[in-house]
This record gives sequence, C-alpha cells and structure tokens, in this order.
Amino acid sequence: MEKQQFLYEGKAKRIYATADPDLLVVAYKDDATAFDGKKKGQIERKGMLNNRISSFFFQLLASRGVDSHFVRQLSDTEMLVKKLDIIKVETVVRNIAAGSLSRRLGLAEGTPLSRPVLEYYYKDDALGDPMINEYHIYALNLADRGQLLKIAEDSLRINEILSGYLRGKNIILVDFKLEFGLFKGEVLLGDEISPDTCRFWDAETGEKMDKDRFRRDLGGVSEAYAEVLDRLTGGKS
Ligand code: ADP
Ligand code: UDP
Repeated sequence: MEKQQFLYEGKAKRIYATADPDLLVVAYKDDATAFDGKKKGQIERKGMLNNRISSFFFQLLASRGVDSHFVRQLSDTEMLVKKLDIIKVETVVRNIAAGSLSRRLGLAEGTPLSRPVLEYYYKDDALGDPMINEYHIYALNLADRGQLLKIAEDSLRINEILSGYLRGKNIILVDFKLEFGLFKGEVLLGDEISPDTCRFWDAETGEKMDKDRFRRDLGGVSEAYAEVLDRLTGGKS
C-alpha cells in the first residue's frame, strides 16, 4: 500500500492518505518533544525504533484478543493503520507512582500503587491535555457510556497484557498513555505504544528505558529505546 498525499504532521509522526480511504500510513519521526512541546530535540533512530516497538506491541495485543488500528508494518519507519476518528480522551494507566502523579499526590517516584490507576485526559494541545473525569467526558460529549466502558476495559486489559509480558523481559511497566478512535462505529486502540508514551524501568537496576531519559537529560536515549526493542524481540527484529 503506497502512501499518497501528506495529511498531518504531529510532534512525533506524519500521517499520509492511501488509495484506500479507510487506511492511513503513519511515518514515525526522530523528532522528540517534551513539556507540551517546550523542549525539542532529535533522538537518533527513534522513528525506526518506535515503529518497530509499536508494531510489536500491537501484534502482541492482537494475539491476546485486543484489536487496534494496526494493519501491518510497511518499512523501518512506517506502518499501515485503519483510519480512526480519534476520540479526544487519552487514558493513562499507572502501576507505580511517577511523573505527574508523584507531583500531584506527593508520592515519591517509585512508590508502588496497590492497584492500577486509570486516568482520563482531554486531548487538547492548546489546553495542555488537562485531566478530566467521566462527568466531563459525558458533559462535553467526548464519548458515550458504551464507548468509555470499552476504552476503560481495554486500557486495563492492555496493562495486564503488557505488564506481564514485559516482566518476563525484565522490564517494569510503570505507566503509559493510550489513544482510541472510532472505525466504522467500533472503538479501536490507535496511535502508538512506545518508550515515548510509556515508562519502562529495568527490573534489576531500576534504570529508565524511556522518554524520561530525554525529558531529564540523562543521556543514552536511543540506546535505551534500542535495548527495549532488543529485549522484546530477542534481537530478531
Ligand atoms: P501529536 O498530534 O500529539 O503531535 P503525533 O505526532 O504522534 O502526535 O501525531 C499523530 C497524530 O495522529 C495524533 O494526533 C494521533 O491522535 C493521530 N492518530 C493516531 N492514530 C491514528 C489513526 N489510526 N487514525 C487517525 N489518526 C490517528
Ligand atoms: N504521556 C504521553 N503523552 C502525554 C502525556 C503523558 O505519552 O501527552 C505518557 C508518559 O510518557 C507517561 C504517562 O503517559 O508514560 C504518564 O505521564 P505523566 O502524567 O506522569 O506526565 P509527565 O510527567 O510525563 O508529564
């Protein structure tokens, strides 16, 4: 499936149309941003690494019964996906306190949570993606009850699948962000699942293997992303 006209450039990816109106090409970039786009940079090979890592996770989820927009990997940096009507609600699932949860609730980073926490954020760059709850979602007509139930159930199921899988690869899944959209009336997982959108910690050393290395200037960013891919695929990707 050839990519056709360029449709959209985001912070991490470019989107192209294809000959099939139901399908898009997502091209992953090396560009990195943090803090609502205030910090900008490039991470060598990130486009390739995130495309491969996301492709791997979408296939893993499909094999466990969680459908997504993913159709197939097209090249090192591109994947073919179903075109979604993106729902403006991002979910974050957390297993361990870090980032904004640590700041908001005064929990030391690394504090285990006694059960997973599911949060909703309003997908609106101009507002800085504020946290919202079910009442806001229904009041703003961002999703209906059936759609939100599916989003919540899928998010928690994805957490179970990915946490368990990654634990076997000596990686702790601390937290992650997901996006969903509508495809022919059905709610499907979209966007990406990568070290840009998840916190991964090495199970032995606690070392960060995700975008916090970029956010906090820890160095070794692309090496950490490459290590995630290596552990997932056993070096066979
Ligand atoms: P941003 O727009 O936040 O800067 P990206 O650079 O990651 O983010 O761009 C990807 C954009 O494409 C996001 O807005 C995301 O919601 C959207 N998107 C992801 N998957 C799909 C899909 N299957 N169909 C339509 N849009 C999608
Ligand atoms: N996240 C994301 N995109 C966002 C906000 C958060 O992918 O716009 C991910 C982030 O990488 C982390 C999780 O969601 O894995 C929780 O992020 P948090 O709310 O702690 O915010 P942060 O401290 O990263 O700003």
